[in-house]
Amino acid sequence: MYDFVIIGGGIIGLSTALALGKNYPSDRILVLEKENKWAFHQTGNNSGVIHSGIYYKPGSFKAKFCRNGCQSMVEFCQEHGINHEVCGKVIVATEEEELPLLENLYQRGLANGLKIAKISAEEVKEIEPYVSCLAGIRVFSTGIVDYKQVCQKYADLITAQGGELRLNTKVEKIVETAQGQVLETNNGSFETRLLINCAGLHSDRVAKLGGVTPEAKIVPFRGEYYELVPEKRHL
Ligand SMILES: Cc1cc2nc3c(=O)[nH]c(=O)nc-3n(C[C@H](O)[C@H](O)[C@H](O)COP(=O)(O)OP(=O)(O)OC[C@H]3O[C@@H](n4cnc5c(N)ncnc54)[C@H](O)[C@@H]3O)c2cc1C
Repeated sequence: MYDFVIIGGGIIGLSTALALGKNYPSDRILVLEKENKWAFHQTGNNSGVIHSGIYYKPGSFKAKFCRNGCQSMVEFCQEHGINHEVCGKVIVATEEEELPLLENLYQRGLANGLKIAKISAEEVKEIEPYVSCLAGIRVFSTGIVDYKQVCQKYADLITAQGGELRLNTKVEKIVETAQGQVLETNNGSFETRLLINCAGLHSDRVAKLGGVTPEAKIVPFRGEYYELVPEKRHL
């Protein structure tokens, strides 16, 4: 019998397992992931940005969590030697109508307690020579990181804390019991006191497996990334 079983080995599932293991060191914790690697879906295919939180409503949890998360992600990477760079970000207005929006964003960034600066079109060019704009904001705390490496480190730390991890294990059925739930997978059954659903874009389907009818339905949209050819990378 586990105390916690977490479904999903993306950044949310793994960081949840890591935090639970720190807070409840004697509890049995298990992470189940259907793929053969951690961070196989959204987490390992995202843009790799450590966001500053500039866009979020001041005072909201999103703003607070993003600002704190930005700092703690950088500290985590420094502590564990994970590839990252606090390169900052520039946000620009290219049309006259965008200038008031840029000003709003600047005020929002200040209200969120971020280190930011208004910069002229010439100053933007010093940072990004191929950008033509009317004005910009420089956000100093934004960074980039390899989230696959972050997740691999989380997995190592969870194991070191005594947690258990299983790849290639897809949860197919959830049965309620008097003590908690039994999870039936392609790789055996697991009983738990508490179940945490971190299945990302499948979290509504996983909720349904447990007999819950979520109000929200996840409707994914396909997007595509393009990679610059080496001779244009200076752009
Ligand atoms: C295109 C794109 C770009 C983004 N860019 C950024 C960015 O630059 N910076 C940023 O901070 N955020 C970014 N995000 C958001 C961020 O990537 C996500 O919020 C985050 O990765 C979600 O993590 P997750 O663990 O919830 O989901 P996921 O990483 O999708 O993990 C869910 C896991 O659950 C597993 N799973 C599902 N069903 C089952 C089952 N039945 N049994 C077992 N396992 C199951 C899946 O296999 C998957 O590995 C971006 C998102 C997208 C889509």
